[in-house]
Amino acid sequence: MKLTANNPPRRLSVFGSTGSIGVNTLDVIDHLGGSDQFEVMAVTGHANIELLAEQARTTGARLAVTADESQYMALKDALSGTKTDVAAGKSGLKEAAELDAEWVMAAIVGTAGLAPTLAAAARGATIALANKECLVSGGDLFVDAVKAGGGKLIPVDSEHSAIFQCLDNNQRHALERIILTASGGPFRAYTREQMRDVTVQSARTHPNWSMGLKISVGSASMFNKALEMIEAKHLFGVTSDQIEVVVHPQSIIHSMVGYADGSVLAQLGAPDMRTAIGYALTYPSRPGLPVERLDFTKLSRLDFEAPDEDRFPALRLARVAMERGGLQGAIMNAAEETAFDAFVTGDIGFLDMAGIAEKVMEAMVGHPPASSIDDVYKTDEEARHRASGFIKHI
Ligand code: NAD
Ligand code: MG
Repeated sequence: MKLTANNPPRRLSVFGSTGSIGVNTLDVIDHLGGSDQFEVMAVTGHANIELLAEQARTTGARLAVTADESQYMALKDALSGTKTDVAAGKSGLKEAAELDAEWVMAAIVGTAGLAPTLAAAARGATIALANKECLVSGGDLFVDAVKAGGGKLIPVDSEHSAIFQCLDNNQRHALERIILTASGGPFRAYTREQMRDVTVQSARTHPNWSMGLKISVGSASMFNKALEMIEAKHLFGVTSDQIEVVVHPQSIIHSMVGYADGSVLAQLGAPDMRTAIGYALTYPSRPGLPVERLDFTKLSRLDFEAPDEDRFPALRLARVAMERGGLQGAIMNAAEETAFDAFVTGDIGFLDMAGIAEKVMEAMVGHPPASSIDDVYKTDEEARHRASGFIKHI
């Protein structure tokens, strides 16, 4: 099936192509027919120049960008003799965002993804959004930029893809609640005492999903779910009390939508990000993909439990951030990214991450709301600075 009947391939840029989502995106493109279906415009990465250059060569991308300026010459050398242009740093990412791609896979990790994704949205590209930080930090400003640009926003996060697939736009008036499922991560059954001394290696080992480092550790602390609650609020225009979280260790139900008549619609599938990626890249076509099929006769059980906000305080912080509104999401996220870096380098313990996020949020209560995206960047910077201060005192 051709995605665009009688038309040329869909022009697509992949931001964060060397990461876990990026690599899966290129794999999905391959399965869907490669260059017959997609013309890859830009690929972007950070440190892994070898992989980035290889991706540029195999896709024939017009532009390859490393966000790390010091790697510019290495990338240039690796791509000499090809038709791919090379750029680096923030200006390089901007250049990638401005290329005329109709569709953009936004899969950079962290707040670094906000500026290029926003620029692509503003010029009207349809955004396949993996980078949840765009919504957590940019909030309604980001949603408004997409609307003003005239493109669409299609979630890639598996929970939000599930909700998007279960939401009937003609029945939005009857939407009652959104139920985000959470695997509970590797420490689901740990006491706080047991979590105190866990290592990065044990925190990154997810029971069901294979993902990048940040999101894997975020699944262990449930900070990832906290970000996803805020992501859902902005994506689907619901309030904090319409968002529920349920722990579902098998990760088969990817999330659910509850309606006013008591019906609950769920989307199920094997835990493989390629389903959500393929859905977002081809919406609304839903072409075939070679992912594992669920065999219900072999699924012995599906379990559900209430999340524990004492052991996983990130969930409570997300509610606080949503209820306070303004830039508390951006503040929580920036503080947590800073604390995550300190956990990875061994400067703080696992439980300190939530402690630091909470301290920074408290210190910045009443911070003025954002009227422009520059306010978001300034606030993000201040929250990081404050988080670094707290980290030094641990
Ligand atoms: P990853 O760490 O595997 O990859 C991140 C990508 O961003 C890489 O290409 C990396 O080179 C690039 N990058 C890193 N730092 C950068 C910087 N400062 N500037 C520009 N680019 C930079 O991460 P991932 O797991 O693929 O996740 C990407 C995004 O998708 C995250 O926001 C994550 O929360 C979200 N997401 C991921 C999954 C998953 O299964 N991996 C699922 C749902 C949502
Ligand atoms: Mg998710």
